[in-house]
Amino acid sequence: MSAEASTPSRPEPRSGVMAISAYVPGKSHAPGVEKVYKLSSNETPLGPSPKAVEAYATSGAQLEEYPDGSALVLREAIARTYGLDPDRIICGAGSDEILNLAAHSFVGPGDEAIYCEHGFLVYRIATLAAGGTPVVAKETDLTADVDAILACVTPRTKMVFLANPNNPTGTYLPMAEVRRLHAGLPAHVLLVLDAAYAEYVRRNDYEVGLELALSAPNVLMTRTFSKIHGLAGLRIGWGVASAEIIDAMNRVRGPFNMNTPALAAGAAAIADTAHVEMAADHNARWLPWLTTEIEKLGLKVTPSVANFILIHFPDTPGRTARDADAFLTRRGLILRAVTSYGLPDALRMTVGSEEANRLVVAALGEFMAGGADAGRGA
Ligand SMILES: *Cc1c(COP(=O)(O)O)cnc(C)c1O
Repeated sequence: MSAEASTPSRPEPRSGVMAISAYVPGKSHAPGVEKVYKLSSNETPLGPSPKAVEAYATSGAQLEEYPDGSALVLREAIARTYGLDPDRIICGAGSDEILNLAAHSFVGPGDEAIYCEHGFLVYRIATLAAGGTPVVAKETDLTADVDAILACVTPRTKMVFLANPNNPTGTYLPMAEVRRLHAGLPAHVLLVLDAAYAEYVRRNDYEVGLELALSAPNVLMTRTFSKIHGLAGLRIGWGVASAEIIDAMNRVRGPFNMNTPALAAGAAAIADTAHVEMAADHNARWLPWLTTEIEKLGLKVTPSVANFILIHFPDTPGRTARDADAFLTRRGLILRAVTSYGLPDALRMTVGSEEANRLVVAALGEFMAGGADAGRGA
């Protein structure tokens, strides 16, 4: 083939890019419905700390200045809360950016990154965007399976992503299993522990993996302000790992990746531990209530330790997940279809306000009793 014949006539994305299915966020509108309860993106029904909102508003007075590119106030606030060295913390525009920075720093063409069957979609996107090859490990009972992950490891493996607890299943691995996974990985493989929902978990055998991230040279733990802190709109996430890993990611990171209002609000939010506790208590009350009430309707709910539940629907015409989604949406109750996660028969519901939770249970009761047409015109 001559050089001319192989020259494309227009710019072509590099290998892997066109294999990405762009992330589709949860719906936020119900056409024609006035009051909408958005239970599709795992946001908190309690909103952010009032102190965070105040810090955000105050920061509006200095928008002409570049933000602090080192995110010092935020890293120091996080370090104080968790007793960490600020130099081992990296902040990003959501933990999505941290996950992408990790992939772009440690995965390239020819390299493999492993994640679980129903794992968070960003892992696949970040891997492909970095030019790497995604490898999917089977789950057992909608839960990460350490042996299946380890069986996927090859000499090309550079990274393993594990959401603990996982979204959209809500299941988790006890720390003993996370340690077994880490122990089974070659030293050059980076284990990314995505603990986006850590604050909600109330299980004695659960740990976020902080000790592992501090002691092992190949573990990155990521966290977010989008969930329990109620700041999804500001895009704030962070990670902690060895000084070498953080150094590498800082070289790839954009110099001003965090904006000034996000830095101020994030620092105020993480210091407001009472607000976080209140949100965790709300969840601890309504998560089991929702699970029990929805199971009473004859629907299967995957046991969740996070702030959402996965509800499984039968394949009976009129009672499917699709039918339920349409039925609930007509009433302004917006759940998340999870077909893109390989779960076409399920809907994910975020634990909402008391009002929203009661409305969903009542509506699902009607749906199961009357079928898909019962809600039309309501
Ligand atoms: C919501 C979520 C995040 C957080 O993403 P942000 O970019 O911080 O908003 C990370 N991981 C998982 C598994 C999530 O569900």
